[in-house]
Amino acid sequence: MQFRSTKSSKPPVSFKEAALRCLPPEGGLYVPASVIDMRQFFLYMDRNTAYHELVSTVAPVLLQGELNPFSASRVAESAFDFEPELKQLDERFSALTLYNGPTGVFKDFGIAFLAAVMEELTRNNRRIMVISAARGDTGVSVAHAFYKRHNMIAVLLYPSGPIRGLSPESFAPNGGTLIPIEVRGTYDDCQRLVIEAINDRPFAERYSITTTNALNPGRLLPQSFYYLYAFIKLKKLLKGDLFFSIPCGNFGNLISGLYAWKFGMPVRGFVAAMNVNNAFGDFFKGNGFKPHRLIPTISPALDVSVPSNYERLSAFYEEAPAVMRNMVFPAVIDDKTTLTTIERVWKQYGVFLDPHTAVAFAAAEQRASSRDMSHSDPHFVVLATGHPAKEAELVSKATGQTIEIPSKLAMLQNHTEPLAVIDPHLDALEGAVASCF
Ligand SMILES: *Cc1c(COP(=O)(O)O)cnc(C)c1O
Repeated sequence: MQFRSTKSSKPPVSFKEAALRCLPPEGGLYVPASVIDMRQFFLYMDRNTAYHELVSTVAPVLLQGELNPFSASRVAESAFDFEPELKQLDERFSALTLYNGPTGVFKDFGIAFLAAVMEELTRNNRRIMVISAARGDTGVSVAHAFYKRHNMIAVLLYPSGPIRGLSPESFAPNGGTLIPIEVRGTYDDCQRLVIEAINDRPFAERYSITTTNALNPGRLLPQSFYYLYAFIKLKKLLKGDLFFSIPCGNFGNLISGLYAWKFGMPVRGFVAAMNVNNAFGDFFKGNGFKPHRLIPTISPALDVSVPSNYERLSAFYEEAPAVMRNMVFPAVIDDKTTLTTIERVWKQYGVFLDPHTAVAFAAAEQRASSRDMSHSDPHFVVLATGHPAKEAELVSKATGQTIEIPSKLAMLQNHTEPLAVIDPHLDALEGAVASCF
């Protein structure tokens, strides 16, 4: 599978090049340049297939010529010491649990695979340095994914403020792979520094710099694997059409679901669940997109005014607008409905939902009870993207239950000192990095 830019007609590049570059030098975002039909593999994988087996099967087909089956199983096993879990709730609804990773959010899946596959594809290269801007718990996700990887260093740029959840044994001077740096500035300053570092050729080449930014196609591709996983778990039980309901912020997760569909997964549609920050609803209906002013909600990961994957979605719609309008169904869920959904799902199924998942659940229920669904026996898989314990207080208030916090997630609160504190300039970053060797 090769990748091309959404913005140019330059010849496509390999997965390795796309993943290492992250963003095309000519602008735009990397998208698959061709479609690969995986249907024959869905025939023999079934509910007994383990997640790493599925990944070892599909990855070498998708990355043919770059990742052989032997390397793919090594990647799958070293990336995934956690698994998705499909919980069937009743005839109409299942929850696909994606919060079993180190930071309790689905993003762990993409980051873990990207780190493992980068290690595998650069095995014969010199050491590479992965540089990332860190916000919330992404730093921990990256730290976990790059833990003890051969020939790799992960630089994390944190905005001013406490750094949480890292352990000093994993720092480069102590024999680990991590260089956490505090930047006197904001998250945007950190992101700008990442881009500057990649574009500063002498610096970038001296250290072989790359990034794990959320726009990296190497994070989106592996997110398609858990859609396939849900499908093979359910395929024998489905009586009618299969839908996925996804809480959408930057729409990366939805794009990955659309990739799974393009690989031949038999799915009838995707519910794009949004909170009141739903400017993208107009886009899905074919009315163009105008950003709205952001309204803070209780599902903050969905509070996005201009989704960073806008260009990727546009590329899908430009290809076949009518198909897409029959494939992606926008839904808008307000905070009040989110809270009552958390309460109701607890009472009805004994399952805790985090607020983001609750937005997707409520959206699936809305779709399931719409008139055009009444004869098709649909089944909705709701993507449970966040651990309910990450919003323990809110979930506890909605359900009247005490939410236990797993020790892994409690540790995310521990404070750590950075290896360096720098001004937001490339020179300072170069100096800080050099002093770690
Ligand atoms: C990031 C995130 C989302 C949104 O995912 P996108 O790929 O940005 O659409 C949803 N839920 C949770 C818990 C998240 O952390």
